[in-house]
Amino acid sequence: MLEDDPNSNTILATPPGKEADDSGRTTDEKRPRWGPQHKGAQELAKLYSSGKRTQELICVYICITLMVLNLGLILRHFRLERISNVVVAAFFGILTADFGSGLVHWGADTWGSVDLPIVGKNFLRPFREHHIDPTSITRHDFIETNGDNFMVALPILGKLAWNFFTRTNAEIQQDYAISAYLFLCSIFVAMTNQIHKWSHTYWGLPKWVLFLQNHHIILPRRHHRIHHVAPHETYFCITTGWLNWPLEKIKFWSTLETIIELSTGHKPRADDLKWAQKRT
Ligand SMILES: [Zn+2]
Ligand SMILES: [Zn+2]
Repeated sequence: MLEDDPNSNTILATPPGKEADDSGRTTDEKRPRWGPQHKGAQELAKLYSSGKRTQELICVYICITLMVLNLGLILRHFRLERISNVVVAAFFGILTADFGSGLVHWGADTWGSVDLPIVGKNFLRPFREHHIDPTSITRHDFIETNGDNFMVALPILGKLAWNFFTRTNAEIQQDYAISAYLFLCSIFVAMTNQIHKWSHTYWGLPKWVLFLQNHHIILPRRHHRIHHVAPHETYFCITTGWLNWPLEKIKFWSTLETIIELSTGHKPRADDLKWAQKRT
């Protein structure tokens, strides 16, 4: 299927020393390189635990409560004369969320391993699974899709609510643009993996989601396919994707990787490659 193999990664040249059969394919090539039949993907899917599920559930419920509370507080203190400040602040909030999504995604894809205690199985595992079975995300429910991103948004929303309750009206008005910035940033951080899931969904998307994708207000489907070409080394931003092109132009990710590899000796994406090769 197109979304399983968006860039014909399955079409491989016959490696030296491998015998091809009548159809011209070697034994290795006939093993699934992507998708739910991939042995590595199956192993990773099994590592999703009930403890992890509980953490996601708690984060989603607290985060939604804080989103509703902060929305009410933001609207209660809104003054029409601040609209231009709010629009600029909101724009930078979305840009920050896009950059944050790229930084976290790059870090998780590129460094560390599933074998690391706590972090590996709970937070790096989904990134490894996503590369070898990209459509698994479309089979995840709301909790599994959004739990971790809602967790990242929690401290920002918590701090925002704290500010509203502990400051005077004059102080709230003075910092209103900052509050709008933090609110929009946290909403987009929380929604990032849902937006990412939509970029892998080819059927049944609501018209308003297609509108947002087609006008590049959120991550478009064709745009995200660039990241899914092995070895997954570019276009890491997955909220709006607005920063992917400029970051690629200035070689932001590859420069960071060179600095880290030279100073630590660790090879980028070594664990990602290990899982991709677990085809038997
Ligand atoms: Zn990735
Ligand atoms: Zn993806």
